[in-house]
Amino acid sequence: MTRSKLEFPEGVTVLERGWLSSNNIVLLGPGHSAVVDSGYSSHQDLTLELIKQQLNGRPLDDLVNTHLHSDHCGGNAKLQDHYKQLQTHIPSGNSQAVTSWDIDKLTFKATGQTCPKFTYQHVLRANTSMKLGLHEWEIHCAPGHDPDSVVLFEPISKTLISADALWENGFGVVFPELEGIDAFDAVADTLTMCEKLNAKTIIPGHGRPFTHVKAAIERARTRLAYFSVKDRSPNHAIYAAKVLLKFHLLEHQKVEISSAKQWLLNMPYFQKLTPMLKTILSTDKETTLDNQGEKVADWVIGVLCTVKAARIEGSMLVNQ
Ligand SMILES: [Zn+2]
Repeated sequence: MTRSKLEFPEGVTVLERGWLSSNNIVLLGPGHSAVVDSGYSSHQDLTLELIKQQLNGRPLDDLVNTHLHSDHCGGNAKLQDHYKQLQTHIPSGNSQAVTSWDIDKLTFKATGQTCPKFTYQHVLRANTSMKLGLHEWEIHCAPGHDPDSVVLFEPISKTLISADALWENGFGVVFPELEGIDAFDAVADTLTMCEKLNAKTIIPGHGRPFTHVKAAIERARTRLAYFSVKDRSPNHAIYAAKVLLKFHLLEHQKVEISSAKQWLLNMPYFQKLTPMLKTILSTDKETTLDNQGEKVADWVIGVLCTVKAARIEGSMLVNQ
């Protein structure tokens, strides 16, 4: 965990967590404390400790989730258990799925990831604002990576909490596309919305905060163009498969190759990705409809090793 050196609005601290857990943003004012996003479940004890350090004995009043991917809300249950008066705010589009704890709709099943059950008290409505710490933050819809995601903007300092809609280098996997739902246009619209806000500082969901906003938006647009070329290109599907396996390795660090393969084959998103990725196997004459999933799984494991995001040690696949 590193603490960012950039200047933020008074009372705002960014706990930069890496890629398994999202960043946690702590916002403190004299009469109010809030946290935006709570990281992944396997880090929940550390998340609570880090937040307790920041609060220095004060209670946590509000928890806001930009979106409900497991790496942004996996610490919710832990924080709710510790801070009994905590009020949790989630995007309005997710309210029914959380109430009924529908792990299909919440994508925890589809990604093969885990998230302890939590509750909420309030929904975040676009085009309204809420006080977090010392400042009033605007709530804006940011569909694309996730259809229900919001981003938060503080207009005086022009600081944008951009979740996974805009990173220093790109943006998160466009998950609706894995379900066959067109969402690249939504990504483009969200980037335009971010551009119009004219933010000076971006606090992304992952990675370090940054100020070269224009260049980041250009990089994101270049990446979007690469993903959305109109020839049924597997570019985005390849990226998604790599990200999902890398996340699994970040969580477990070291897994038997056979169990990594089985995990991929059991994952609903991987099953949806397989037909999109079959073109990469077109020269492999041994590929049949029956073994296509296994071949793609082998290929993804190989690619992760080629780009040095993983390595093989005997029968193990190891994160690196
Ligand atoms: Zn996300």
